[in-house]
Amino acid sequence: MPDDDAIRCDACPVLCYIKPGRTGACDRYGNRDGQLVRLDPHVLLDRAVARGESVVPFLEREREWDGNVVGGGGSFVTAIGAGTTYPDYKPAPFIISSEVEGVDMVTVVTEGIFSYCGVKLKIDTDRHLGPETNLVRAQGEPVGHVTTSEYGSQMLSLGGVRHLTGGTRHEGTVTCTTLLDLCNGRAAELSIDEGATITVQAGKPPIVDGVQEERMRVGCGSATIGMFAKQWFNKVDEVVVVDDHITGVLSEHQAGKLLGIPETGIKLKGRRSTPGRYFRVAEPGTAWGGTNLQDPLSILKDFNPKIAWPGLRLLMVSTTGEHHAYFELDEALCPVEKSLPAALSESVARIKENCEPALCTVLFMAGAGGSLRAGVTENPVRLTYSVRDALTRVTCGGAPVYVWPGGGITFMVDVTRMPDNAFGYVPTPALVAPIEFTLKMADYAALGGYLGEVRSLSSILSDEKQHVVARDDNPWPFSPVKRQGEL
Ligand code: SF4
Repeated sequence: MPDDDAIRCDACPVLCYIKPGRTGACDRYGNRDGQLVRLDPHVLLDRAVARGESVVPFLEREREWDGNVVGGGGSFVTAIGAGTTYPDYKPAPFIISSEVEGVDMVTVVTEGIFSYCGVKLKIDTDRHLGPETNLVRAQGEPVGHVTTSEYGSQMLSLGGVRHLTGGTRHEGTVTCTTLLDLCNGRAAELSIDEGATITVQAGKPPIVDGVQEERMRVGCGSATIGMFAKQWFNKVDEVVVVDDHITGVLSEHQAGKLLGIPETGIKLKGRRSTPGRYFRVAEPGTAWGGTNLQDPLSILKDFNPKIAWPGLRLLMVSTTGEHHAYFELDEALCPVEKSLPAALSESVARIKENCEPALCTVLFMAGAGGSLRAGVTENPVRLTYSVRDALTRVTCGGAPVYVWPGGGITFMVDVTRMPDNAFGYVPTPALVAPIEFTLKMADYAALGGYLGEVRSLSSILSDEKQHVVARDDNPWPFSPVKRQGEL
């Protein structure tokens, strides 16, 4: 039986009874003097009017703020700290009207509870993190899998309804915690079956098996040959760019042919794709060019004695320039390592210079196409149509989202473009993420919106709010909506 003084939180299906001075299971709601309160501050974005203004510290801004509504849509009510209504047919917690350049607008704001959600993680490294489709684990629990790699980056797909609710309770809890950490900008340690252990954090370099990644590769081995062939011309006889995807060989490659670079009699292991481009010269790994190679010479067969010559100069380099070695052939046509000539140091440095800093990117992805829409309108599918028709802008804590084409409202957002600590959780388990729908008042009326629940911005400003200056590289949420899928 609940304590007599306990109050029931009805903001999610858990329906916690909360004693005075205590918080509910998610720490988002508490019992303060018998009142159910959302504990985190409700965040309002104030428009940065000039480039650079967004770096003004919040407290300084707050002192300047005189309590008046900023005119012309200068403040935007985010869903961060706004709370959730449950069950879904109840109107969203805040439905706020504002006038923007003479047009009546409305923003519907709720902290959505998402079981269908996850994180797409882009890790800038050419090091092999683990075989595609293999499980990614946190604290030993499966929380996602390795998906198809992209140019210069390894991709992980984490979370999703199967890990959140389809496995054991512990798997769901660990998945939820991992997603929450990553979405709120904290680091997470992950291990990949038959692969690496990595530390990832949005906007920070990945750490692979204890080593911080510095740079992305400049391109695949073939692309590297294409980019730098001219700079090697006349300075060296042969160049092999070692890469897990395509290893390039200068003399055979079209770039070398066009420059008139003569054959060298070099022979590579692996599968020849097209001239000067070789697949699978070694197994994937964390050494030379994302392979398992410690000794690059192990991918060479004997030179053709009819073509090669003693003294032939050979540069072997990885796609980041991190690994490189220089050889000359002896009388028996065996490569002998020598120190890198100054003329070639420059080209290796140029490869490094062209490699961008390696970062982790965390995109939160979720579906708002379900029952959450019922908090916006009594006729939920009309919200989907309105988003598709570019009448409604969807934002996450004021940040722009990419809405997937097709059915529903399935969106992705770069978590680094959102205000800090915008995400929460409930122990069902599911992630709680802010979502706002902004549209013209007339369009809101047409889609069956809760007009009786609309409040003016000024009516809520007397409550405690946290004012955050909007990032000036995010589109202002009241600016005109582009086509679906565009930011
Ligand atoms: S888990 Fe949080 S939101 Fe859900 S009922 Fe408990 S306190 Fe309320």
